[in-house]
Amino acid sequence: MLAKANHTHFDSFVAKASFAGPHVLIIAGVHGDEVEPMLAAIRLSKTLEGSLKKGRVTIVPVANQSAFARNSRVGEDNLDLARTLPGKKGGSVTEELAYTLSRVIEKVDFLLDLHTGGGLFDILPLTGYLLHPDETILKQQQQMAEAFNLPVIWGTDSQVQGRTLSVARDFRIPAIYAECRGGLSVNKQTVRRYEKGCLRVLAALGMTAPISGSANKVDYWLEDNNPGQGHLQVKLPSPACGIFLPAVSLGRQVTKGKLLGQIVNPLTQIKTSVRAPEDGLVFMLRIPAIVQEGDSLGGILPITQKGKKRIHAS
Ligand SMILES: [Zn+2]
Repeated sequence: MLAKANHTHFDSFVAKASFAGPHVLIIAGVHGDEVEPMLAAIRLSKTLEGSLKKGRVTIVPVANQSAFARNSRVGEDNLDLARTLPGKKGGSVTEELAYTLSRVIEKVDFLLDLHTGGGLFDILPLTGYLLHPDETILKQQQQMAEAFNLPVIWGTDSQVQGRTLSVARDFRIPAIYAECRGGLSVNKQTVRRYEKGCLRVLAALGMTAPISGSANKVDYWLEDNNPGQGHLQVKLPSPACGIFLPAVSLGRQVTKGKLLGQIVNPLTQIKTSVRAPEDGLVFMLRIPAIVQEGDSLGGILPITQKGKKRIHAS
């Protein structure tokens, strides 16, 4: 049996230094089918033993045991934990879990929430944060994202609800999330990237020794406050059902109208082209071949050259 019977709770490791300092919470497994963050969390808990100079780090390797036991994004009540926070005491499994997790988040000083595309999406390694209205918190989040050192940084509309980051926002806690690749087997590079990224953030907070080999890897930095931009599962809806044949690869720059792929219906032999709705970077591509109409095929970030870009909603 993979998980304990009580799915409304989770286990955590705590690394504590003798000197006072910030309390950092690192969460993995909010989605039960995203395994690399779980493995990175276990490695981190070992690495941090005895190496923390100040403060405290709480690491949750599997936040959503209900979803993990089902090898699924969602729990046994079919709710997505990352859309259910701050949850409800006495609610369904995920609602109760969200309530418990929120109580942990509200007590810390910094939050890192680690994800992948699971079995559904391959995602360019990125860190993201909400465009917090408080300049000081925004700045801290930008610094955390930069320290994590993945190729894409993405700041999005702060008005979203249901997330670990929205709970952190409400309690004025600087928070970032990370996404990195996806697939059905373990990507060891993602595990290493996540362990190192978290250690870099802890080093930037003065809690661990500086990490060697920390050359800047950030290529694209987009801040976009248009509503709903950070919602990955609704991007590029498939115009038909059939087999998705991508014509572009992850990380490619495309211009509006460029062929992204085709949906081939093997029963009717009808082919439907999917074209880029805007110029930008292909940062997410669907993994499973078979699609239903409306399923997300991937996503494009509206950034066309390396460097920083800000988009303000009109
Ligand atoms: Zn996730």
